[in-house]
Amino acid sequence: MGKVTGFLEYERLEEGYEPPQARLKTWKEFVITLAEDQAKVQGARCMDCGTPFCNNGCPVNNIIPDFNDLVYRGDWANALTTLHQTNNFPEFTGRVCPAPCEAACTLNVNDDAVGIKSIEHAIIDRAWAEGWVQPQPAAVKTGKKVAVVGSGPAGLAAAQQLARAGHEVTVFEKNSRLGGLLRYGIPDFKMEKSHIDRRVAQMQAEGVVFRTGVLVGAWPADSKVTNDAKETITADQLKAEFDAVLLAGGSETSRDLPVPGRELDGVYYAMEFLPQQNKVNAGDKLKGQIKATGKHVIVIGGGDTGSDCVGTSNRHGAASVTQFELLPQPPIEENRPLTWPYWPIKLRTSSSHDEGCQREFAISTKELVGSKGRVTALKTVRVEWQGGKMVEVAGSEQEYKADLVLLAMGFVAPVASVLEAFGVDKDGRGNARAGTDDAGGYATNVAKVFAAGDMRRGQSLVVWAIREGRQAARSVDEFLMGASTLPR
Ligand SMILES: Cc1cc2nc3c(=O)[nH]c(=O)nc-3n(C[C@H](O)[C@H](O)[C@H](O)COP(=O)(O)OP(=O)(O)OC[C@H]3O[C@@H](n4cnc5c(N)ncnc54)[C@H](O)[C@@H]3O)c2cc1C
Ligand code: SF4
Repeated sequence: MGKVTGFLEYERLEEGYEPPQARLKTWKEFVITLAEDQAKVQGARCMDCGTPFCNNGCPVNNIIPDFNDLVYRGDWANALTTLHQTNNFPEFTGRVCPAPCEAACTLNVNDDAVGIKSIEHAIIDRAWAEGWVQPQPAAVKTGKKVAVVGSGPAGLAAAQQLARAGHEVTVFEKNSRLGGLLRYGIPDFKMEKSHIDRRVAQMQAEGVVFRTGVLVGAWPADSKVTNDAKETITADQLKAEFDAVLLAGGSETSRDLPVPGRELDGVYYAMEFLPQQNKVNAGDKLKGQIKATGKHVIVIGGGDTGSDCVGTSNRHGAASVTQFELLPQPPIEENRPLTWPYWPIKLRTSSSHDEGCQREFAISTKELVGSKGRVTALKTVRVEWQGGKMVEVAGSEQEYKADLVLLAMGFVAPVASVLEAFGVDKDGRGNARAGTDDAGGYATNVAKVFAAGDMRRGQSLVVWAIREGRQAARSVDEFLMGASTLPR
């Protein structure tokens, strides 16, 4: 434990942000990483609990008390080693993770949690700056070939683990760039894409082969999911060429809003809108980019994806941005004795909300109204929740002006045709059916085909995708070699 009385002496320090006026002019990240001496003081706040709830609350089970202590002692290189033991990509989670570890931190019972995410962020940024993150190629090759379908955090984590175990790994990605939703979902202002590029370079040096613009399986002709593929490889080809296949294709089918007027111009899925801006930032020239400039924007869906649409619309220079949420406004503060160490329901105000957004809760869209084929307004009604059922409030009908409507109501399932091409069984929600138990975990019903990440568990978080990628890699390694030394 760092400083025995640290938690009594020091306050939690939040990472700084560039002011909204400045950050709205760019697509760059605006979070200011803790300086070395600040991170040291934050590390000193950790109590090194006998039962570290943070470690259990973290989906990759980061060894948090140890790296807090190492940062407090100024041993940053060993803090990095500790962090990398459980997490292949702390620079991703240090930026975009909602940090369930902090909700679980014992200090969070009656004080402010240790700033675990900001310490993680500081360790990994310093490590890259110092040149401590280097390729770790396997000393011995196994001669086994593994195909990973999808280059999101699940596919990347699995590929890195499998390459380090000595296998020949090829990652297939239908889009023109690697990273999955890290690349084309999460806006650059939350995570710049150079972080993905340098990890890809590290993995290439470890022997991983990446093939972009290659779709595996089959794809529906009318799909609105981003697909830049110029080439298709069938499921049978892949199974014939590789000793094992890991499906990590994400959960890409967006939830629709089946109301009158849905067909109007100006109504798009968030995942039609957001990837375009990330592509433009990367230098692509797009014809007819969906822009919010000068428009009244309504974002339907109160979650992270919706918040990313808010931040992107404001950077385009929208006339106004309003975000709808079907559920009532949660409390500003959680009831900690009731919720700790679990993830509490409370009002979450993102940096994008702070940049300008009207938030409406307990509101349902009944109809999209248009003129000459373009959306002009939304007809809404207020709702109440009675015994778990949604009830419309009589007389609460209202119209909201809108020139651009972005549907950000989550994702229902993976694209079914991909799983069907492999003959993989689906669960009740349309995800790939595969358990996570130690023996045979992540294996599907099809011989030598495994599944992980959002494609298996449904829409989730980057940190869960990394966990599943790592665990699935161990399962694949066990399947190929009879035993594995990869961590679970
Ligand atoms: C807008 C948005 C913002 C988000 N923000 C956050 C956040 O701030 N924090 C957080 O923790 N989580 C966030 N998430 C969720 C997080 O990004 C996902 O849970 C995570 O990326 C899932 O990882 P994955 O590897 O399973 O799948 P994905 O990241 O979806 O990657 C799947 C990849 O597989 C490829 N693929 C699919 N099918 C095929 C095929 N047949 N052939 C070849 N390639 C294929 C896809 O093109 C894609 O690149 C966000 C999600 C969205 C949409
Ligand atoms: S729960 Fe909080 S105080 Fe306890 S070990 Fe983890 S980070 Fe430190």
